[in-house]
Order: sequence, then C-alpha cells, then structure tokens
Amino acid sequence: MKIELASEIDFKGWRDAAREACRRDIRPDELQWSTPGSEEDLFAPPPSSARLKQNREDDRKVVAPKPFLQAAERVVCLREPERFSLLYRILWRYQKERRLFQNAADPDMVWLNSGEKLIRRDVHKMHAFVRFRKAGETPNDREQFVSWFEPTYRIERLAAPFFQKRFANMDWVIVTPEASIHWQDNKLTFGEGGRREDVPAADALEDHWRTYFASIFNPARLKIQAMTSEMPKKYWKNLPEADLIPDLIRSAHARERAMAETAPTLPSPLSKTLSERQAPELEAFEEATDLIALKKALRTCRRCELADCASQTVCGEGPAQARVMLVGEQPGDQEDIEGKPFIGPAGHLLNDCLEKAGLSRDDIYITNAVKHFRFEARGKRRIHKPPSVGHVDACRWWVSKEIEFVRPDVIIALGLTAARSLLHQNVRLGDVRGQAISLPQGQTLVVTCHPSSLLRQPDAETRLAETEAFIRDLSQAADFLARD
Ligand code: URA
Repeated sequence: MKIELASEIDFKGWRDAAREACRRDIRPDELQWSTPGSEEDLFAPPPSSARLKQNREDDRKVVAPKPFLQAAERVVCLREPERFSLLYRILWRYQKERRLFQNAADPDMVWLNSGEKLIRRDVHKMHAFVRFRKAGETPNDREQFVSWFEPTYRIERLAAPFFQKRFANMDWVIVTPEASIHWQDNKLTFGEGGRREDVPAADALEDHWRTYFASIFNPARLKIQAMTSEMPKKYWKNLPEADLIPDLIRSAHARERAMAETAPTLPSPLSKTLSERQAPELEAFEEATDLIALKKALRTCRRCELADCASQTVCGEGPAQARVMLVGEQPGDQEDIEGKPFIGPAGHLLNDCLEKAGLSRDDIYITNAVKHFRFEARGKRRIHKPPSVGHVDACRWWVSKEIEFVRPDVIIALGLTAARSLLHQNVRLGDVRGQAISLPQGQTLVVTCHPSSLLRQPDAETRLAETEAFIRDLSQAADFLARD
C-alpha cells in the first residue's frame, strides 16, 4: 500500500496517515511512503491514504507520545528516503511495546535519537550563522534584510520561529537552496529556494560583525579544534568575520604572551603609603564649585573603605559641558591601574557600540557610580567584585555633583548599579529598559545593560542579539538628544 505525502517535509501528512495505518494495524513492510519526485513516485498507484480511510475496520486507539511526535517532526527534515517508514515502524511497534522509548540501545531508537541530534545541531548552526545584509527600506520605513544560508537538512520551517521572534522589528528574507523564509509586515511565509548570487554580497553591517568578533576573541582561550567544530569551515564563506580567523589564530600566541606580560598584579604594598604621602590634604569637598575642584576633592575621598585597597580614585572624564553623561558601575582592574574610566575590554566594546549608535565618546562625559575598584585578591590576581548597596549610596554624592556641574541633557545608566545610583532604588532592567525617565534635576535617563554583560553571554547568537539591543538603547538616547 502506498502513501503519498505532499512534500519532502510533510510531517502532518505522515502523522495523519501513520495514525490511520496504525489504527488498522498495517505492518510497516506493507506500506510504502513516497514524496513528490521520489523514485517510487514514477509507478504511483492512486493515493492510498484515502483508501486507508474507506477501509476502517475497527476502532483501535493509537497512542503517540508527544515527545515522539516532536522528535518525528524534526526527523522528517533528514534526507534519508526511508525516514517516513522508519518513523512509522517506531509508532507501530510502540502500540505493542510500551517500553520501546526507554530502550536507548534499540536500533530504531538509536536512529531516532541520532537523527534528532543531527537536526537540532543543524538548526542551532543556522541560528548562529545566518548573517543579514541590508537590502533597502520599505515605504513604511521598515528596514529590509536578506541572508543566504545552506543548511545541511530541510530545517527551514524548524529554524524560522527563532528569527521571527528575534528580528520581529525588521522585514527579512532568508534564502536557502530549497526554500525561502519571509518575514514581512509581521507575517511569516515560506517560498521557493534561490541562488546565492541573488543575495547581496556585503554591506556596512559586516564591519560590525568583524569588530564584534575581534573584540570577543580571546587568544588565551584559543582551541582550534573546538573552534572549527563549533564553527565548521563550510559556514565560513557566508560569515563576514571568517576572513579574520586565520590572522587571529596566527597571532594568538603572541597576543597571549603580551596579555600575560601586561597582566594586572596587586599594587605593591608600598603604593598605598606612597599615594597617601602624595595625597593632598583632605579637601573640604562640600565646597567644590566646579568639576576641577570636585575631582581634586574626590581623590581624597574616604566615604567608604574601598579607597583603602584600590590603587587610586578613578574620576569621570570628558567635556565639562557634555550633553550626554554615561554612568558605569565601578572601575575595573585596568581602569584602577591607569586611573581612567572604561579603558579595558568593556570600554572597547562600549566605544564600538557608541559609534554604531551615532554617538562619539569624545563628546560624552563618562563616569562610574562608584569611584574605586572593589575586588577580591586571589593569588596575584584581583577579581572584580560588585560594589555593595552601601558603596553605591556612599558614592552617590559625587555622582550628583558631577551631574550638577556638567548639566547633561541625557544620562545613560550602564547596568543596574548605575541605575540604583541615579534612581535611589533597585530596579529590574526589564521594567525600565526602553523608557525615557525624567530625573528631578531635569535630565532624561535611559537605563541599559552594562557592556561587560555582553562579553559574558554564553554563545555568539545571544551575544549578538544583546549587543544589538544595547546599541538600540544607545541610539534611543541619541534620539532624545536630537529631539531637545
Ligand atoms: N566597568 C565599569 O563599570 N566602569 C569602568 O570604568 C570599567 C568597566
């Protein structure tokens, strides 16, 4: 008996026909499954799923566990011609062998589990390695993007919901050799496949990818084998950042050595005595009337104990009349050594994102909610430790003075420590993100994440999405500025 399916990935057609055949207890070897264009199709008798329905004999109840159906929906995306009949065999056997799914060594289970793994992996790769290129704008100002991708299996429908959720605000098309996924006017549709040549080759977004990839590449963690297995070479041709990889690998050892040589160390026990000896007399800082006097006074601050262990106070920097003020958390290791805010890895990423958002660091006053580095000493290393609420509250006096003297129009809080400092209370990012909050001193506050949280994201796709959200927040701040 022959069952004709509507397409290579016709899961619904398979499920309905398989259920009916199982109900009638038709043995797997009595059924032949075909898809349009498959070889058996040449000799096709009339569709038999209809015949299946006419010949109903009894009312046997067919049981199909949900996890199995979910696995089956994935596995139909494989290219093995026998996938539909293997799936049917499993369903048919399960009606009699209720412990079948517990037997991981059963050859049918081995096939099902390994097939599902292949599909999951392929979907994951598609999520990670699709790169959109700008293709224009629609009349209603929505940006249009297009991407070319070659999945190993027929996973377009499985992979689509991820892109729909993540890139809901733009119109896009992903073209593969066998299908295309379209998201337009908030509607997801599928169409014919296409050719690589039809997709634009490069645009300005590619630079963003390259900078981003170079900034997250840590030469000390380089494991070439793991890297090529995570990012197989077959995907490289579509990845704008891939042309950086050979160079980054080649220079990794030298960069790692340089990192080790410049690795931060604990300040010498003498340094504190020295800095104390050189410190100016404790200023009557309440009397500071401008930014210069304020910074001088700040160097003598003993409002909390953090000054005892840090190498020095890290004051804010930037134009005294900047229209935008950025408030971070606290100086990191490098900032503590150099005495300047945001000059380490988070600072580099921040600079890049500011530029993407149309803001220039040179025009911004950058400071921190807490002016001294809080850390935990582990051996010779100093590990960042977040400041406590007490530290933030103790340091707020300085931040308010900086706002008073600089008088920015827009303030951007980078992370929740900065938000606490400016709002005098703990908030959750999800509750305040995207809002224009009016501060009592008249400024507009935008709260976003801290750039170092982007560097900690577990995988490339989340990092990219979070980085894009961060850039959007910065652009929003730039828009508020333009509106004033
Ligand atoms: N993180 C911060 O919050 N501030 C800095 O200055 C550096 C890293």
